[in-house]
Amino acid sequence: MIEHITGIHHITAMASDAVANNTFFTQSLGQRRVKKTVNFDAPEVYHLYYADRVGTPGTVMTYFPFPDISRARRGVGEVGHIAYAVPETALAEWARQYRGARRDTLFDEDRLHLTGPDGEAIILVATDNAVGQLWSGTLDPALAPRGFHSASLRVAEAEEMDALLRLMGYVPEGTQGSVTRYRVRGKRASVLDLDLRPDMPRATQGAGSVHHIAFAVPDREAQLTVRKALIAAGYNVTPVIDRSYFWAIYFRTPGGILFEIATDEPGFATDEPLDTLGEALLLPPQHESLRAVLERALPAL
Ligand code: ZN
Repeated sequence: MIEHITGIHHITAMASDAVANNTFFTQSLGQRRVKKTVNFDAPEVYHLYYADRVGTPGTVMTYFPFPDISRARRGVGEVGHIAYAVPETALAEWARQYRGARRDTLFDEDRLHLTGPDGEAIILVATDNAVGQLWSGTLDPALAPRGFHSASLRVAEAEEMDALLRLMGYVPEGTQGSVTRYRVRGKRASVLDLDLRPDMPRATQGAGSVHHIAFAVPDREAQLTVRKALIAAGYNVTPVIDRSYFWAIYFRTPGGILFEIATDEPGFATDEPLDTLGEALLLPPQHESLRAVLERALPAL
């Protein structure tokens, strides 16, 4: 069993409109935009990072806004929902503000279901298990989501995903309806819900889809150990890729979901000061020559 994974590091999704996406995460959800950069493989598209005050792993939601991509089709083989932790006392106020939003309980935790601008399923879970550092943005800090509580993985078959999650250090805790809850040893965003839904079609990626979910390891040494263990278990894992703010490896899961293992180091304050994080357009060295073109073409945020 792998012992280095501590929970969710970040989740990366696709949007259709950078402005609507930015407004939702920074204004409605009160997250701090901690990085404004471009897709390293397609620099004409933004890569936006929303997180806590400093970009703590376990709080980081990132988006590629592709103008005009079509809406995703929900199904199996994808991350089903993203859940943020909110203080127990705050959930009632959220429910008051989002009157039509569905409320339910899973594993004795109260939840409120919100919908993002591209139809994303975003759940607020009442818990006092906060991750990260509060950002005094536009929301009352007493209400603001405090990092990820969990994410759900929607699959048509559970057996191989169960084996993978156990290999990654996750332990099943119980089943309610279609959902089996897993938890990894670690204090940040340590919960995953495996949602067994053979009744659903295969998901089609588009606006509102999660592209991949990344799991945290402390450093590059731990990442290499995890990489070896995954390869030994038969997974086809990429080489280590430099993503400027972390190091990444990727592999496709049996359930069809793209997993990443990302390092906590070096973090988001490596190329700009902490107090102005996410304000300037940051470009990796290979795309710096495109700055003038990109600044004209990308929508102002
Ligand atoms: Zn990633």
